[in-house]
Amino acid sequence: MVRKWVYAGVLALAVAACCSCGGRGTAEAAPAGVAEPRAVYNKILGVRNFQRTFNDRNDVHLSAAVAKGITPLGDREEAASAAERLLRIAPNGYYAMDSLAHSIPYLVPSASVLLTKIGGNFQDSLAAKGLPEHRIIVTSVLRTKRDAQRLSRRNVNATLNSAHFYGTTFDVSYRRFEPADTAAAAADPWKLKMVLAEVLRDLRKKEWCYIKYEVKQGCFHITTRL
Ligand SMILES: [Zn+2]
Repeated sequence: MVRKWVYAGVLALAVAACCSCGGRGTAEAAPAGVAEPRAVYNKILGVRNFQRTFNDRNDVHLSAAVAKGITPLGDREEAASAAERLLRIAPNGYYAMDSLAHSIPYLVPSASVLLTKIGGNFQDSLAAKGLPEHRIIVTSVLRTKRDAQRLSRRNVNATLNSAHFYGTTFDVSYRRFEPADTAAAAADPWKLKMVLAEVLRDLRKKEWCYIKYEVKQGCFHITTRL
């Protein structure tokens, strides 16, 4: 008789153990009357003043670009001569790219690392804040002197002495972002801009890059310091 109860006890323990390891949903359901724990997301704090926060002047970008980058290219045919110092970048899981009219998709490796880091940190930050997944959009990359001449005819503010000549510098839109799920409701672009600004402010503080807030072009102008 005693033996029979021992067997029954072992069986009960086995069933209990089995229940606790299987059926995650039911095992972890909150008891009746107790509220399910709610996801806690980080707040969007943003930055107060974009122009003041991202105020690295062109000469600061240029000196980093000259130190870290390639010799400026006269035209696109010359890009082959700098091929071993440049990486061709393409849209991936971390960033989307506009079709580039006045630049070509090449960066020095450290600028490519920086761009990927920005895209990755942005996505991590969106997830931590409970916002849907988006990619940043690159709007301009490496310009040749010829590209700059063409651009200056259209845009009087386009400088003929730009960090974009060195493969160290790229622009990222703060107005447009690419949603991972185009069928889902669009996220508030202002919130996305604020989250991107937080990410950039932190990387700038860590001395990864110089950043200028470009009001007219609707982008952050970013040069690697890596
Ligand atoms: Zn730029």
